[in-house]
Amino acid sequence: MSTLTHLECSYCGKEYDADVLQTLCPACGKPLLACYDLEGTKKKWPRESLKDRETTLWRYWEILPLKDKANAVTLGEGYTPLFPARRLGKELGMSNLFIKDEGLNPTGSFKARGLCMAISRAKELGVKEVVIPSAGNAAGAMAAYAAKAGMVAHVFMPQDVPLPFRMECRAYGAQVTLIHGLITECGQQARQAASEHGWFDVSTLKEPYRVEGKKTMGYELAEAFNWDLPDVIFYPTGGGTGLIGMWKAFSEMAKLGWIGERRPRMVVVQADGCAPIPRAFEAGEEFAKPWENAATVAAGLRVPAAIGDFLILRAVRESGGTAIAVSDEALILAQSRMASREGVFACPEGGATLAALEKLLAKGWIGKEEKVVLFNTGTGLKYPEAT
Ligand SMILES: *Cc1c(COP(=O)(O)O)cnc(C)c1O
Repeated sequence: MSTLTHLECSYCGKEYDADVLQTLCPACGKPLLACYDLEGTKKKWPRESLKDRETTLWRYWEILPLKDKANAVTLGEGYTPLFPARRLGKELGMSNLFIKDEGLNPTGSFKARGLCMAISRAKELGVKEVVIPSAGNAAGAMAAYAAKAGMVAHVFMPQDVPLPFRMECRAYGAQVTLIHGLITECGQQARQAASEHGWFDVSTLKEPYRVEGKKTMGYELAEAFNWDLPDVIFYPTGGGTGLIGMWKAFSEMAKLGWIGERRPRMVVVQADGCAPIPRAFEAGEEFAKPWENAATVAAGLRVPAAIGDFLILRAVRESGGTAIAVSDEALILAQSRMASREGVFACPEGGATLAALEKLLAKGWIGKEEKVVLFNTGTGLKYPEAT
């Protein structure tokens, strides 16, 4: 049984009914997050019980928002491998380097985690038609899950997204609109269309359940490391759903008694051409100013203004982590280095984590023995031109 109780505003703390469709907090306009009866679940749900469960993210059923299992729209997402990166580690002088390979998810990226949950819950609450603004992977994932759910899907994409992203959306039967502009403009158009036609907008953090799908990465890391979390996590950050989700997962697991108080240092990785979070982090600000003229080949990082900026910054600071930007040249070089040393053909965003690791190692910010996880968030196969 899901132990979902209600939704709570991540900023002002107001509480809302989870059993009706919700978007942003009506009071302050910030994202809502799902709350569970962790106290009541604690006694009934020991971590050992996970052993016999299915090898998808649905193994964490109790802390997922779906009320009825029959509403789960699934393509086998989650439970991705965590590879020891031995050759790369050796070259860098590191003894505990790992790659969590999210490229093995359905539709080739970790967007599958968030969108399977958003679509499943939307279906449960009666939605028939969905819309998303996306720079690539989110659109493909939404289109696939909407197809499986029998929903009508609308996608607003910048016209310069790589061809494979457009191809897959159309193959899944989505209505694709190409926009002359960045993801922020796509967001405006999607919002307008949503309010005109009554479509449900599944943009990052505008509905509460994509975070719930993505937080399972945190549960999987804890489980894979036998409940001893890594020292440092490198996360290529756009809207920050995964980072916010993992940070939430750690706090939930502590309340369940599954882990202690120690937390990984969270490292936000962005690109030099679009680095609003590192800039706000350095300046000590609570919110990040929008980045002007955002440009990077790592499309997932081309998010000039993130609605969850304060949650990203909060997690980074509470964890003792940092936020860092790398050049496009460095992230593409790192992408091929990861492929040729570890057999993981990462997306450019995944390559960025390795480039950032090299930078922080050179600064002495990371110890050579520390347990470090790089997130490869998608397959490299969808970016033929960048590569
Ligand atoms: C969306 C995306 C990101 C950024 O993910 P967030 O959780 O929204 O920050 C990183 N890499 C890839 C490949 C993506 O598609």
